[in-house]
Amino acid sequence: MSGDFGGIVRLVAREVLRPRSAEEVAAVLRDADGPVVPRGCAHSTYGQAQTDGGVLLDMRGLRAVHRVRPDRVTVDAGATWREVLEATLPHGRTPPVLTDHLDVTVGGTLSAGGVGGASHRHGLQADQVLSLEVATPRGEVVACSPERRRDLFDAVRGGLGRHGVIVRAVLRLVPAPERVRVHTLAYATAGALLDALRRLPADHLQGRAKLDPVWRYELTAAVYGSGPEITGAFEVAETSYAEFVDRMRPDVAELIRLGEWARPHPWGIVFLPARRAAAVIEATLAETTAADLGLSGLVLISRPVVRNVPALPVPPDPVMLAMLRTASPGAADPAVMLEANRRLLERARAVGGTRYPIDAVPPEAG
Ligand SMILES: Cc1cc2nc3c(=O)[nH]c(=O)nc-3n(C[C@H](O)[C@H](O)[C@H](O)COP(=O)(O)OP(=O)(O)OC[C@H]3O[C@@H](n4cnc5c(N)ncnc54)[C@H](O)[C@@H]3O)c2cc1C
Repeated sequence: MSGDFGGIVRLVAREVLRPRSAEEVAAVLRDADGPVVPRGCAHSTYGQAQTDGGVLLDMRGLRAVHRVRPDRVTVDAGATWREVLEATLPHGRTPPVLTDHLDVTVGGTLSAGGVGGASHRHGLQADQVLSLEVATPRGEVVACSPERRRDLFDAVRGGLGRHGVIVRAVLRLVPAPERVRVHTLAYATAGALLDALRRLPADHLQGRAKLDPVWRYELTAAVYGSGPEITGAFEVAETSYAEFVDRMRPDVAELIRLGEWARPHPWGIVFLPARRAAAVIEATLAETTAADLGLSGLVLISRPVVRNVPALPVPPDPVMLAMLRTASPGAADPAVMLEANRRLLERARAVGGTRYPIDAVPPEAG
């Protein structure tokens, strides 16, 4: 793949390498006379996994899932979360936090942070790492964890590959439920949604704003196994855990079929302090039309806990607002969408907010 999911920035690497071992990654870093940029599935949206004239490391060459134990699994960093699950679910185990889309790499999401529907309970994916092996810019392979080389452990989680290449990770596992009850609830205001995101006793929570014909809010609240009742839902469905965690698969197939998957995706994603979040969300949506989001655009709202990822600055009690735009035919031009992202980031920063670093904001604002 050249470029990335964003489809806006297209840089040309001098060389693309597909290392097959940690030592090969380390050797490339040791011998490099310019930038070396790791790439997972390149689902970032503004060139974060690209290099202009440097060496691109295609980490999909390193994707083995090693030993699965009841409380942990060891994986190579180029493995996707789908590949991790394929190895752990037969043992009745799962990572506690999964991305919505499973076809992104462990190394890529740990380097961004990794936010999922269970992040209100378990923190980010980067919070759920027990230890890492990292190929450092000096070309050494170094093991790190909260107890050992904490500086490196903290620099690479959320570090976008700038302080070393993650080659292997030991990830925490928990028992996987068999069944999931999925509730959908409706709210009229951002404030009511944010309150529900804090209050509901669900295992998975994901809010969403919909233009219909005015902005309304919906919440998916999923309860694993025989967990507590959620009242007030206008829809309840039951499914298997395996199907639930792979719920995006049919939508992705449809987006590929429609051509939407290949179009530019100028995604704007910010963290807002909870006490100012409703106002920022409502002001942002007030100036957002259907054309500003595109045919398959989405607005996602969640309240992740960020436990201990120092390289990813977030405000206290963060709310994540993700304006997932697609430059579909007839929608606003990507440049107009990028400008909207710049305004969103400005608005977020004015209240103490920060950005999710795989978003699409032109560098002068970054
Ligand atoms: C459909 C879709 C759904 C998504 N859902 C989520 C979601 O639920 N939660 C979420 O948090 N994000 C999500 N993302 C956002 C984002 O794409 C990911 O967080 C991450 O970028 C994806 O991993 P990747 O393998 O594509 O990483 P890439 O885009 O390839 O890389 C991301 C960054 O990490 C660096 N990197 C890659 N591999 C390594 C490595 N081994 N060591 C060090 N640095 C490395 C790259 O240089 C780059 O800076 C989604 C994206 C898409 C397109």
